[in-house]
Amino acid sequence: MEARPLLNRRLNGLGTTIFAEMSALATATGSINLGQGFPDTDGPEEVREAAVRALREGRGNQYPPGPGIPELRTAVAEHQQRFHGLTYDPDTEVLVTAGATEAIAAALLALLEPGDEVIAFEPFYDSYAACIAMAGAVRVPLTLRPPAFRPDLDELRALITPRTRLLLINTPHNPTGLVLNADELRAIAELAVEHDLLVVTDEVYEHLVFSGGHHPLAALPGMRERTVSISSAGKTFSFTGWKVGWVTGSPELVAAVRTAKQYLTYVSAGPFQYAVAEALRLPDEYFDGFRADLLRKRDLLADGLAEAGFRVFVPEGTYFITTDITPLGEKDGADFCRSLPERCGVVAIPNAVFYDNTDEGRSLVRFTFCKRDQVLREAVERLRRL
Ligand SMILES: *Cc1c(COP(=O)(O)O)cnc(C)c1O
Repeated sequence: MEARPLLNRRLNGLGTTIFAEMSALATATGSINLGQGFPDTDGPEEVREAAVRALREGRGNQYPPGPGIPELRTAVAEHQQRFHGLTYDPDTEVLVTAGATEAIAAALLALLEPGDEVIAFEPFYDSYAACIAMAGAVRVPLTLRPPAFRPDLDELRALITPRTRLLLINTPHNPTGLVLNADELRAIAELAVEHDLLVVTDEVYEHLVFSGGHHPLAALPGMRERTVSISSAGKTFSFTGWKVGWVTGSPELVAAVRTAKQYLTYVSAGPFQYAVAEALRLPDEYFDGFRADLLRKRDLLADGLAEAGFRVFVPEGTYFITTDITPLGEKDGADFCRSLPERCGVVAIPNAVFYDNTDEGRSLVRFTFCKRDQVLREAVERLRRL
């Protein structure tokens, strides 16, 4: 008799995340890691000091309240009001999570029944596939295609079936850099209302839109009561190791997500929650400066990649650039990324890992630009040798 596989059927095929493999390869070969999206400089000094103060003063060293400390929930509500004009009650409509990752997991585990269909943009952020699978639900990809990666809204309409329960929307979009425009947001909202769908929005790059700003789906007519909005301090404040994220939504939706969340981590990051509460209240200069800095880095890397022979799809948001390697005489992004450290000492991520229809992303490769200028310049120098 054949032994039963250890890994259950729901998780079969999910394997190790590509980031672990590529980051290990970067370390082993001493390459510049433009694969995983984490900054190589830490966020604001005063925010770090706020965490130290909380630790020293014994705030958050024991289990914080399940929904998050009141100071942070209030700061999240204020931030939603200040930047997006959205009003949330810190007590019933805000939930603090272990990063956006836990928020996504808790939302999908709470809201989906086995067999429910979830429509998400493909390429998808890697945890989406895993969380939809863990919920026993079915992912239905809406493929974003180069050069602009704009969603085909007729295709979206056609993908909706009586089994569709939820739209999982990521804007600004990792890895393509797509930022949904007003017409697209309106069309998506109308479909959600017409078909009575829930919407989960991943907005972790809300402060990295290079022109025009970020517009949350929750602000559109009929959307507040059906939308779980997710964001995180990791990307906005360059503290990806702190894992402080949050959910905003109606009391019913937040209560549902909290039910799942309390049995995943229960609570996390006590002292860091105090520091993030301060970070969210930083003056506009911080947010504007952060965006301007990343815009300069985007242009530095985009120009360099183009000079090195890549086809570059300049992103409207996020800190990633998707490229096509076909002009370099290459076909397969996975082979290319595995050989790149040896060939020129740079690590990137093959976009194909973010696709169900891997053929759609075969020749696409993602680079991050959330690194120091000198590191980006050195990477460009190396890539020119290709
Ligand atoms: C980084 C990232 C996340 C995870 O955020 P954490 O707060 O680190 O858990 C979620 N979604 C997208 C699109 C991301 O790029």
